[in-house]
Amino acid sequence: VNPVLLRVLRVQVRIFRLAKITALQKLALFLLICVLFSCKKTADGTADQLPKGIATSHWIDQFTWVQYGTMPLVISVPHGGLIAPDSIPDRTCPNITNATDLNTIEMVKAIDSVCFADYKLRPFIVYTTLKRTKLDQNREVAEATCGSSSKEKLWNNFHAAIDTAINRVKTKYPQCLYIDLHAHGHALQQLELGYLLSRTQLQNSANVSPTTSSLLSLFDNNAVTLSQLLTGASAFGTLMTNEGYPSVPSAAYPFPAPADPYFDGGYNTARYTSVSKTFGWQVESNYNGVRENASQRARFAKAFLKSIITFCSTHTKLRPEAFGY
Ligand SMILES: [Zn+2]
Repeated sequence: VNPVLLRVLRVQVRIFRLAKITALQKLALFLLICVLFSCKKTADGTADQLPKGIATSHWIDQFTWVQYGTMPLVISVPHGGLIAPDSIPDRTCPNITNATDLNTIEMVKAIDSVCFADYKLRPFIVYTTLKRTKLDQNREVAEATCGSSSKEKLWNNFHAAIDTAINRVKTKYPQCLYIDLHAHGHALQQLELGYLLSRTQLQNSANVSPTTSSLLSLFDNNAVTLSQLLTGASAFGTLMTNEGYPSVPSAAYPFPAPADPYFDGGYNTARYTSVSKTFGWQVESNYNGVRENASQRARFAKAFLKSIITFCSTHTKLRPEAFGY
């Protein structure tokens, strides 16, 4: 018998003796206290223990939020924040970009919700609500803070959380998929997938060493080619295109045309896909039909999860069971 429950019952009996209430009222009060006492909420907000482990989440500081998930997927969102307190100085170093990636925090929340609804799993997530004009969480520390040492702790918190997330995945799974989630404002409405390869390298992917790409860790004793991973039938870009989200690179659009804008991956993608057993890419999402409203984001989340599961099942050591199958 639970000793705490016993103590609660004893207190209840004492209250009953003192209060002049009817037997029926006593029974109702007894049942109410038992129900309240037995309700335990998990971090997922559900009353039941989850069969595949429990995710936990918390604010590391005023702006940095982390979720330690239950599957081998880590997603970071460095540019979705909108909070810009006067107490934190603006970044003012030369040649910097300060654009916000609108609705990308909402996108990762949609991925999290759909993932839990459809697969009973939760990804690892790290995001910041601080606006990029104050701190850029996809740059090395000097450019990220523009030399303002007071921001270094925030920068460290964000990146330490990603380090911890990846390490936790690797204690349980043979590999870790890392996604850095962004948004672009280019007119061409397509996903730009950054594998740390320039448009020229994408154009000649058959002759490019895979070790220069963010998929480096998929090439240990694996017969797959870089071209297959980037533009084959089970490449992430091809799978997303098939789901209605045109992407570059993909089978239909293997490399960006010279005039087309294209992001090939930044600091986070380079840093975290160089960690052993970790592979991934930067997702630069277009606006129309992807992140404008909640229903678009939920539909995108479904396609995103379906595509990464197919990609991982085909090309990595991560089995479908790791994703809830
Ligand atoms: Zn961005």
